[in-house]
Amino acid sequence: LECPMKWHFRYIQKVPEKPKHFFSFGKSIHDALEYFYSVKTLPPPSLPEVLRYLDDNWLTEGYKDAKQEADYKEQGRTILKEYYAKHLADYRIPYFVEYGFNLDVEGVKVTGFVDRIDKVGDDRIAILDYKTGKAFAKDAAVLSDQLTMYQMACEELLGLKVERLTLYHLPSQTPVNSEPHSAAQVQALRERVVRVAGDIKANTGKLERAEIKHFPTVFERNTSLGKPSSSMTAEQICHWCDFKPLCPAWAHQYPKAEAAESPALKDDAKLAKLVDRYGKAHDEMKELEEKADALKAEIVAVLKERGYVKAFGQKYEAVMRSDERWEFGPESKPKVLDAIKSAGFWDRIVGPMAPKVQELLKDASLPMDLRDRLQRLGKKAESVTLRIKKVEEER
Ligand code: SF4
Repeated sequence: LECPMKWHFRYIQKVPEKPKHFFSFGKSIHDALEYFYSVKTLPPPSLPEVLRYLDDNWLTEGYKDAKQEADYKEQGRTILKEYYAKHLADYRIPYFVEYGFNLDVEGVKVTGFVDRIDKVGDDRIAILDYKTGKAFAKDAAVLSDQLTMYQMACEELLGLKVERLTLYHLPSQTPVNSEPHSAAQVQALRERVVRVAGDIKANTGKLERAEIKHFPTVFERNTSLGKPSSSMTAEQICHWCDFKPLCPAWAHQYPKAEAAESPALKDDAKLAKLVDRYGKAHDEMKELEEKADALKAEIVAVLKERGYVKAFGQKYEAVMRSDERWEFGPESKPKVLDAIKSAGFWDRIVGPMAPKVQELLKDASLPMDLRDRLQRLGKKAESVTLRIKKVEEER
């Protein structure tokens, strides 16, 4: 349901995916909470037992280095300590922990696991799903397709009514609740399951014969409330997908992958097309560079005005570094060289002039009169670099 193309790559083509640290982290914390709630009789495990369980069952895949892993482990321990302190008093043995279901939706098999189900009355239950990633909006539980699916599965398979649905944000220990999802919401999700499964069934052959670029339902998300389209962009949906370089939906960004697969590459017409695409990419790059320069100037102006060196977006952070340097016009260059030569520093600047003079000016042992002379011949300029990098996403 997440993405029919992903399903195709994962289960039909069996393309391996890279391990991701945020999945390892999320699963390690989920497993520790499963351990906490899995007792048959009271009392629950002690905090040291829960923390030991985390240590013994810690998943190590996907971290970029030992430091990142150690930081996450520490964060995991903090989450469990805070959770324990907050919830020991209201501890009850749940009705189910990690409830595995296998639901038939109009002939489509849907499987999943519900983190926790509590009985809140003779025939009523509360469903809870733990999250370890970024904080979410107040209406996240109301809009969650995942919770709609859990409600469908529990009501149908357990024969109990859902009274409350909760997404529990573990890093902030914040539960976000929702009333049971409406019959219309449930029905919309049922229809979507059938539509996506039908799309896969009807179009797999066409996709393999390259008659279509991707499954028509590929970017369909968050539609269970009847909204016409997803609130997420295609870029957001696909951002962390390992299959992106192989995915026909992104062939325009990964021409090499598409070209390598195509036997028609030997064809001159195909080659001409590639040349044109390469030319177009160059033009687009120039345009994007201009846009990026304008945005950079805008960000730098705001950072300077506020006295900041760093700013955060949702997905990126920008760090400003400022370097001072001296610039010399063509008319001053002979005088600069003459001044350096006559002061006996010529050998220090042999080679490309500007960088060497910069180096010389940074040298604290440079005689004051030479420094003054050089600085009078040039004018001070500033170059600003703006480093941009992705902020890591978590589960
Ligand atoms: S890149 Fe996007 S469309 Fe393609 S498989 Fe991944 S999530 Fe699906």
